[in-house]
Amino acid sequence: MTTNHFCTLCGEKLSDVFVEGRVRPACSGCGHIVYLNPLPAVAAVLLQSGRVLLIRRGVEPGAGLWALPSGFMEQDESPEQAVVREVLEETNVQCVPGRLLGATTHHDHVFGHVLVLAFAARFADGDLRAGDDAREALWFDTQNLPDMAFRSHAEFVRQAEQLMECNT
Ligand SMILES: [Zn+2]
Repeated sequence: MTTNHFCTLCGEKLSDVFVEGRVRPACSGCGHIVYLNPLPAVAAVLLQSGRVLLIRRGVEPGAGLWALPSGFMEQDESPEQAVVREVLEETNVQCVPGRLLGATTHHDHVFGHVLVLAFAARFADGDLRAGDDAREALWFDTQNLPDMAFRSHAEFVRQAEQLMECNT
């Protein structure tokens, strides 16, 4: 149940032990318990005139398919700062993050369990240009989304649209 077979503290072999309500890898040498937690990631829903900004993924999972600009949070970032950075890296667009739309977890074969925080965001500036691990960056009609890498991303687009309707 873990990718680590040895203790990162003392080098002893890890074994599965029932502790605090579930089976967890634990070290027989020093007693260190390995708590496995999902990786925090952010995704941005930029809406403008009925269109949403999407990127075509260059890497797995979902390589070749479309997704919201998204990525993992760095250690010293707020979720909002991660949104601004990821959108800039992948699309060259400066954005202003808005409301948290929702949170979801998924499991994939590359990163394991991931926690995704999705934020509404407003376009601020910049000419669209794909960068980092995005192959393309384009605006899509929200009523006609392309093949999406993650079902949750399409749902976040719907939620952002509903939010916009409530605000007008
Ligand atoms: Zn140990």
